[in-house]
Amino acid sequence: MRNIACGDCREQTDYTANPQKWGVCVAREHTSGFEAFFGRGKMQIIRSLWQGKLELSKEMADVIFQCLTCNACSEACAYDMDNVALYEALRAELVDNNLFFGFI
Ligand code: SF4
Repeated sequence: MRNIACGDCREQTDYTANPQKWGVCVAREHTSGFEAFFGRGKMQIIRSLWQGKLELSKEMADVIFQCLTCNACSEACAYDMDNVALYEALRAELVDNNLFFGFI
């Protein structure tokens, strides 16, 4: 598996906004904006899970469920990956393990 971490999902300008603005990820605007909230961070979380370096957790659910699944990170990505399909698969896995967003 290649380790792609260019950050286009974080850095690309949204030319559809008026005025144009930095960043395509709407999660950035309603979260702390740390790496995990961007597409790149979420993909790194998923890769680490797949490699057995991370385990599912409540903290992970708090990050993953704040994504609006708008798919802008996938559109910005040059590697034609279906990011949201992976986020949704991870959400399903979290729910199956009774790990939810918020105070539940
Ligand atoms: S799908 Fe989620 S991570 Fe990707 S740009 Fe939208 S809000 Fe951000």
